[in-house]
Amino acid sequence: MTLPASVERQFPSALNSRLVALRRAIHQHPELAFHESETANRLIAALRELGVDDVHQIATTGVVARVRGVSRSAPVVALRGDIDALPIQEATGLPFSSQVPGVMHACGHDVHATWAVAAAALLTQSPAVGDVLIILQPAEETGKGALAILESGVLDGVSAIFGGHVDRRFQVGQVVADEGPLAASADTFEIELVGAGAHGARPHEARDPIVALASIVSALQTIVARRLNPATPGVVTIGTVHAGSAPNIIPERAHLTGTVRAVEPKSRDLMLGEVKRISEAIASGMGVEARVTLDRGTPPIVNPPGATHWARAAATAVLGAENVVPLGFLNLAGEDFAHYMERVPGCFLRIGACEPNGPVIPAHAPKFYAAEESIFVGAAVLAECARVASHALSVSD
Ligand SMILES: [Zn+2]
Ligand SMILES: [Zn+2]
Repeated sequence: MTLPASVERQFPSALNSRLVALRRAIHQHPELAFHESETANRLIAALRELGVDDVHQIATTGVVARVRGVSRSAPVVALRGDIDALPIQEATGLPFSSQVPGVMHACGHDVHATWAVAAAALLTQSPAVGDVLIILQPAEETGKGALAILESGVLDGVSAIFGGHVDRRFQVGQVVADEGPLAASADTFEIELVGAGAHGARPHEARDPIVALASIVSALQTIVARRLNPATPGVVTIGTVHAGSAPNIIPERAHLTGTVRAVEPKSRDLMLGEVKRISEAIASGMGVEARVTLDRGTPPIVNPPGATHWARAAATAVLGAENVVPLGFLNLAGEDFAHYMERVPGCFLRIGACEPNGPVIPAHAPKFYAAEESIFVGAAVLAECARVASHALSVSD
């Protein structure tokens, strides 16, 4: 397949084959969250080979590289590529399939890591006004990596951040850079119901946690139906329910877990609060104690107008306006890039990764892979995002 000419000419054949080899090596040797040592070493070596010398390991198995801009005093911009794999047995049949049983790059982070290195190469040749930090982030899949990068302090003082995700629902050469909600918050809850056990024939001697559980399961459905603004998407799903050991025993405890998804911080807080309030109130009405644990995961991603404008300008400059396409559906999956966006203005893009007439394969499936050419589109667009943002920020500085 052919790349857009504007992208292809940025990658002479020697650089092109180096990057393809890097992607294939990472794909063949996938590593799980916070175990990406071999991947990190490979990325450090690749950056140094491309002439990027200011490279450090951070956040356990992460890497940061600084690509010099034209002006040392101009605002600094960051680009992020995540690098971890998933505990899935690969079934793509690719010649460079995973050599690690039960572990594969089923979310395309092999390509994200490679396009971040490729963007560093492009920015070395054609620098931004200010320095650009290339963040190779571990542990996206566990939702912990972005927090570890933030804790390292490497992003302190950074003025904008950009990242993207491969997506086979879009062709190679198409990019989504929409303003507004792009990924959902992904929080979990756990409810332990503590009553009093008794013989199944003598309910009056018990405080039955199963009946309380049944009411709570029904009542939690009303959060989306009755509490959430109908114009705002949200999900409350109960995924596990456990209680009891025999037909004639009222157990002492019952247990349930679930997930809450939202695309706006306000509705996220409302739904989590309601899970706790409703569960405790119903349990208490039945003489049962509800111990509710809310585990806040990744926040939603809501692309703000300013940084999205820069990203759209960059994608348009690289690919043409006709290839900057709308997402066209609501994404309720989570993405830990959201943690950066709570601290630094930025934009998260979807980068088309399907060959012409190729199959749409969902991420996290054993047959998922990103088309090789998406490396170059992702790199060219992200490098241009850094240049556009860096220029705009230094003018307004
Ligand atoms: Zn994933
Ligand atoms: Zn991913």
